[in-house]
Amino acid sequence: MPVISPAFGYNRTRQIMRLKIVQTGEPVLRRAARELTSAEIAEPATRGLIEWMRETMRDAPGVGLAAPQVGVGLRLAVIEDREDFLRALDPAVLAEREREPVSFQVLINPRITSRSAEEAEFFEGCLSVAGYSALVRRSRRVEVECLDEEGRPRRIEASGWYARILQHEIDHLDGTLYLDRMEPRSFTTTENLTRHWGSMPVASVREALGLKG
Ligand code: ZN
Repeated sequence: MPVISPAFGYNRTRQIMRLKIVQTGEPVLRRAARELTSAEIAEPATRGLIEWMRETMRDAPGVGLAAPQVGVGLRLAVIEDREDFLRALDPAVLAEREREPVSFQVLINPRITSRSAEEAEFFEGCLSVAGYSALVRRSRRVEVECLDEEGRPRRIEASGWYARILQHEIDHLDGTLYLDRMEPRSFTTTENLTRHWGSMPVASVREALGLKG
């Protein structure tokens, strides 16, 4: 997922290791990725991939990146919602989205083990659908089981924007894009999101778009 506004504070003077982020229409984005074995997790190539994905995500800038987005069909994703991104956003928008900093983390073979019936709907975007956003309804809380970069089991309980990021990235590992879950009438360029919809409560957006409830 991209951040909503440009990154401030990311050090662009150092050399950036950047992978190509593939765009919608690339078949790898529509295939279910496969799990990593414990031997693969320990391989230097996997560690290298994780490092490159972290740098690519930060450079984009984004708050999550799944391996299929860099053309690799493995169940691996990185996420991070940096405090310097959040400082650039309106506090009222952050509060509405329940968006708080999330430290850098690696999700290997993640699975959603539980999700709340309660949902939240906000605009979201994707680095593989660059330049667009749409309203997407997702569970407000999820529990995820995965392995970390050392292959240790991890259980995550997440709510708010963190839960949204997890659902978005895990969707990528199943070949699902937000396009499959979005409210089609809300699909917008990022430019028009900023111009018309970004600061409006979702209920008002729905009303303006002629959507029910
Ligand atoms: Zn995405």
